[in-house]
Amino acid sequence: MLLVLYLENLQMSRPDSAELLAPIVPWFKAGARKLPWRALDLDVLHPDPYAVLVSEQMLQQTQVNTVIPYFQRWMNRYPELGSLAIASSEEIHKSWEGLGYYRRVRHLQAAAQQIAQHGWPTDLKGLLQLPGLGPYTAAAVASIAFQLPEPALDGNAYRVLARILGIVKDPKKESIELRTWLKPTLLAHGPSRVTQALMELGALVCGPNPKCSACPLATNCEAHRRGVVQSIPMRITRTKPTEVELWLLAIQVQNHWLVRPPAENGLLAGLWSWPTLALDTINDLAAEEPQPYGLVRWRAWPGWTQAYSHRREKVLPLALQVEVPFEPAGFIWVDQDSLKTLPMGRRDQQLLERLSTSPSDKTEAPPIAGLLRRLVAGS
Ligand code: SF4
Repeated sequence: MLLVLYLENLQMSRPDSAELLAPIVPWFKAGARKLPWRALDLDVLHPDPYAVLVSEQMLQQTQVNTVIPYFQRWMNRYPELGSLAIASSEEIHKSWEGLGYYRRVRHLQAAAQQIAQHGWPTDLKGLLQLPGLGPYTAAAVASIAFQLPEPALDGNAYRVLARILGIVKDPKKESIELRTWLKPTLLAHGPSRVTQALMELGALVCGPNPKCSACPLATNCEAHRRGVVQSIPMRITRTKPTEVELWLLAIQVQNHWLVRPPAENGLLAGLWSWPTLALDTINDLAAEEPQPYGLVRWRAWPGWTQAYSHRREKVLPLALQVEVPFEPAGFIWVDQDSLKTLPMGRRDQQLLERLSTSPSDKTEAPPIAGLLRRLVAGS
């Protein structure tokens, strides 16, 4: 009861959303980007809900311009739900290679399998039961694919709403109220149109550096009126990512390479990887040998920083060719042809690409014996 009263008060104190947001309808009609997953007619059901599901999974954490070629290749490779549902884990991970956040592709396939078996859910509650669909993605699919009046709030939409309503605190803390406030707009102007128009405005006009002079909502925008656009929404202090420094090793014996098979669960599920060793574990340079394991040659390239959401890795890439085979626990040898077909994360793929390029001639000799000893010892 208290919550209802609070929501009623809140809505009474806020302007009518359908009226306030009405200018985005002609703006979106005139300037919407042509995206391969976007339907031409926004007043009817989307002709391919599967395309909407694929695009929404790809767009989580990834920019539109990066997603477009991946989406097109994906739809050629898996044109409908059924073809994705029966594809092998290795195939789908390989097709996703480069997009990162591989949990998304596993969720996408699990959702496709569920839909192939039971059909599409008919409401938001049902969509929320599909693997990998949280409140945002489920509402985006509901509104864009099925014209259900379920407001989908992503980072772009939250930013726009926070500014036009002058919400000073974190707008995500008001997600329930904002969805309730927004719903009449979807009913008045069309769920698919409003959902996409809000996201488009957040992406193209009301970004971190807003272009208020080009904004269709400028005359109605509270933050613009009060001159506090730059301080809304409030900045959330994020936890500093852990920093690590590691060797990334491509080790070759004759025509075979040492790699770690995919884990079943966790962040790296479905992905093959090269051996890695944290830099701080290699401290016995004094014990260096001239040709450990029959070392034939070593190649190194300039390092790079690989950023993940909670971790930053300073990567030192190194390729070693040895003559004496060994097999540390958890690794196997694969031949050159198989190596190219294995799905790998972006970091490991980068080393694979460097193997066919010239190494750096300015790199100091790496502690090869120490590295191999640690690897064989499993530390
Ligand atoms: S007027 Fe400026 S701050 Fe307000 S919604 Fe438009 S771009 Fe964003």
